[in-house]
Amino acid sequence: TLSVSARPLHRANSQVGAVAVFHDVTARKAAEAELAASINDLQAFAAVAAHDLRTPLSVVAGYAELLSYGLAEGDDVATLQPIAARITSGVDRMRRLIDDLLAYATARDGRLNLEPVPLRKLVDEVVADHTTHLRVPGEPQPPMPDITTAALPLVLVDRAMVRQLLDNLIGNALKYTRPGQLAHVVISAHPAPDGRVRIDIADRGIGIPADEQPRVFTSFHRVAQHAGGYPGTGLGLAICHRVVERHGGDIVAADNPGGGTLISFTLPLMGTAPVATRRVLPHL
Ligand code: ADP
Repeated sequence: TLSVSARPLHRANSQVGAVAVFHDVTARKAAEAELAASINDLQAFAAVAAHDLRTPLSVVAGYAELLSYGLAEGDDVATLQPIAARITSGVDRMRRLIDDLLAYATARDGRLNLEPVPLRKLVDEVVADHTTHLRVPGEPQPPMPDITTAALPLVLVDRAMVRQLLDNLIGNALKYTRPGQLAHVVISAHPAPDGRVRIDIADRGIGIPADEQPRVFTSFHRVAQHAGGYPGTGLGLAICHRVVERHGGDIVAADNPGGGTLISFTLPLMGTAPVATRRVLPHL
């Protein structure tokens, strides 16, 4: 795109010509369009976040009001207890959403502190976080999910961000399993081009319909067929997408050949990966 500005050239009170200046404004137009799109995105994002916060907030406000009437009329604990439980679950929903909104903001704009991270150790920590709460001291052991982890390499990543990535993906692999069935998860590593490693997280849960697979990484997108049965914010995979993107990789969802979901993403390997901050100085 060109923009033209022109002005007449005068000499001794008479016009002798004109100067026209052509500016190539393609780059500026593209930057403006990008800014407008990101403002639209931000507005849409804020609208959905506000709506999703408002729903549990109304529930909490309504039950809190009911509770105050109940207390005035001297209701007993058995009557008040279910109301208190609704308030607690509404607060939990809001807390989950706020945590995910913060994680999304960090994944998008947070500082990237690259360091060598043994992936296997990080996976083990995340798996332990997801399974220890299943064991209650003094109570019969519930069946534990079957999680198999292959040898995993040393990667050059932001530890906190990649922990969040694994936390969301392993959490989903365990969560989206049919009620009453034991979750089966296999985590494996495969060579990828450009000094990277591809990590596969395969589960045998309810699966993601093929036409939904590219869409699940969009913020707030939840698969309609899954709605209701599984709590969530629809931000988990959007956070994963941002984290992988910040590390220069990609992430995709596919069918697990054995049934269920397969999520694959790439990360830079330690040692072979080009160091992002290295600059070649010109000879001055
Ligand atoms: P949510 O908070 O809803 O879990 P995510 O962004 O993590 O949000 O995932 C988006 C949607 O993708 C989920 O609502 C769910 O329908 C689907 N999904 C994600 N992971 C899996 C999985 N491992 N198996 C089946 N469905 C999944």
